[in-house]
Amino acid sequence: MAMIEVSSLKKSFGKLEVLKDISFKVNKNDVVAVIGPSGSGKSTMLRGLIHLEEINGGTIRVEGDYLVKEGIYSKPQEIKKVTSKMGMVFQHFNLFPHLTVKENLEIAPKLAKNESTETIEKRSRELLKKIGMADKDTAYPAKLSGGQKQRVAIARALMMNPEILLFDEPTSALDPELTGEVLEVMKELAKEQMTMIVVTHEMGFAKEVANKAIFMDNGEIIESAPPSELFTNPKFERTKAFLHRSLK
Ligand code: ADP
Ligand code: MG
Repeated sequence: MAMIEVSSLKKSFGKLEVLKDISFKVNKNDVVAVIGPSGSGKSTMLRGLIHLEEINGGTIRVEGDYLVKEGIYSKPQEIKKVTSKMGMVFQHFNLFPHLTVKENLEIAPKLAKNESTETIEKRSRELLKKIGMADKDTAYPAKLSGGQKQRVAIARALMMNPEILLFDEPTSALDPELTGEVLEVMKELAKEQMTMIVVTHEMGFAKEVANKAIFMDNGEIIESAPPSELFTNPKFERTKAFLHRSLK
């Protein structure tokens, strides 16, 4: 069974059709790179998967459970079961500014109330160590660099033990010299076989780490292939034109 199955997904904002007929599958341990021009619907697609956006038609199924089936959303309990399997990392980090790094990591699991404080604190210590920020636990986000903020945002998403991580242009808001440290953490997660969907302009990262690439344009998936194929031998003119613009 595929980890995520999306079929005939549709989304409009008023008269603007943003997702036209999106279908794809993600298997366990896949790293899927989603590329495409600005405004092509990449963020809306990710936000739809994790139910930050209500879609208007189509099906989203995660490990056999439906978030939405042919445009009809499941019951709240089922929706929660599906969305709790996913974590998301945003372009602009979205950390809570009034909470320390440690508190940012621990707030969601503590509110969920199904683990002991010790378990939660142990995990936050481990994750801070993993992202190389064990010494920043009491710092507030304003004191951190963009790269540090994004690493904290990744650790925060991991605190909920997701099975799938969604990244929406995680390095696009960073100064170029800070992208490497964030991509390193993501590479490490890929090595540990985390299932990930990554919207990115980092073609080098996509080629190196992803096993599938999806090119979106104007609300549609134009082509989907292993990155080695899609980047070097795109089948469609629109993919070629986009890659030509991005790689120069
Ligand atoms: P991408 O992430 O590929 O740049 P988006 O999914 O953000 O694309 O946006 C796709 C289209 O939907 C754009 O034309 C954008 O202006 C529009 N859009 C996105 N969010 C909204 C919204 N909340 N209301 C109206 N239009 C929106
Ligand atoms: Mg976007």
